[in-house]
Amino acid sequence: MARPTKALINISALQHNYRLAQTLSGAGQAMPIIKANAYGHGAVLVARALSKLAPAFGVACIEEALELRQAGIKQPILLLEGCFTADEIAVAVEHNFWLMIDNQLQLDSILTCNIATPVTVWLKVDTGMHRLGFDADEVESVYRQACSSNNVAEDIIVATHFACADDLSSEATVEQIAVFNSATANITAAKSLANSPGLLGWPEARAEWNRSGFMLYGNSPFSQPQVNGDQLKPVMSLQSAIISLRTVDSGESVGYAASWTAQRQSRVATIAIGYGDGYPRKAPSGTPVYINGQRVPLIGRVSMDMITVDVTDLAEVAIGDTVELWGEHISANEVAGFADTIGYEVMTRMPLRVPRIGV
Ligand code: PLP
Repeated sequence: MARPTKALINISALQHNYRLAQTLSGAGQAMPIIKANAYGHGAVLVARALSKLAPAFGVACIEEALELRQAGIKQPILLLEGCFTADEIAVAVEHNFWLMIDNQLQLDSILTCNIATPVTVWLKVDTGMHRLGFDADEVESVYRQACSSNNVAEDIIVATHFACADDLSSEATVEQIAVFNSATANITAAKSLANSPGLLGWPEARAEWNRSGFMLYGNSPFSQPQVNGDQLKPVMSLQSAIISLRTVDSGESVGYAASWTAQRQSRVATIAIGYGDGYPRKAPSGTPVYINGQRVPLIGRVSMDMITVDVTDLAEVAIGDTVELWGEHISANEVAGFADTIGYEVMTRMPLRVPRIGV
């Protein structure tokens, strides 16, 4: 019998979420961001599922882009971190990768390299996040430099990235949009501002290209309910099964460090998933898991390969019963909240030993 731990990837839910991104993009284009193994969902699986719908994909770095090419993905692929070495520019040209560049060193590498075909460049503007990007007041001259080079393809895109778009009350996003619009007012290039929260919650941020990652996977990027966020369908169902069942007396403890003690005679189920599968070790007793139509609480420490849950209140329970850790009945965001992190992190940290299975 194979280990029952697996991540089922719901292809039609993924396509539904992408179509929502397309609809919100209006006349613009929605670019699926599938870096970090498509936020843990399996980059090749996700790219194949969206390959008839999406005009281009975005990843972090060249290794991720090459994995997609080797799997037969044909669309242009944007490297969100641009290039780290000059050698990568020739590889990018050969494979039709687009480079998002954010500093003069990267631009100089492109202007001075020896390539037969021009490369498509996205110029990133720092509008207030202060992590990457050309200063707003230099972007016009940077754009002119890029335009005058034979190494840069004509269709330059100017882009920025939001720091606080998941907070709809944040003035920071209003300010970032204003800085971007003013910095690029004299530039005729296509524009790109929105990530998932930008696309879902900030209509004024929608532009020719919209780069959505997290929303594709069906969790809302907002901490508060948000109308468009509520239309998303969860894509990943992280599942395992009960591999052991026992009864412990009141006063007995369970798991490492004996951190949970039964307050009554309790039925304890052990489930084949742990932090070695990406289930967050910081998830405390009380974090819900879903078994046989009911939520039941995690108890004790999360081990590397196992967790324990209190199933005393389940009418029926048996070894082999399926357990959902997150998915349709419990969101990854909710589990992440218990573990003091975010849905982005819990999904992205899932290692390869958990098979991703398209359904
Ligand atoms: N654009 C850039 C530059 C990013 O770094 C990211 C993700 O971090 C995204 C778009 C997608 O963001 P989200 O997953 O919130 O849609």
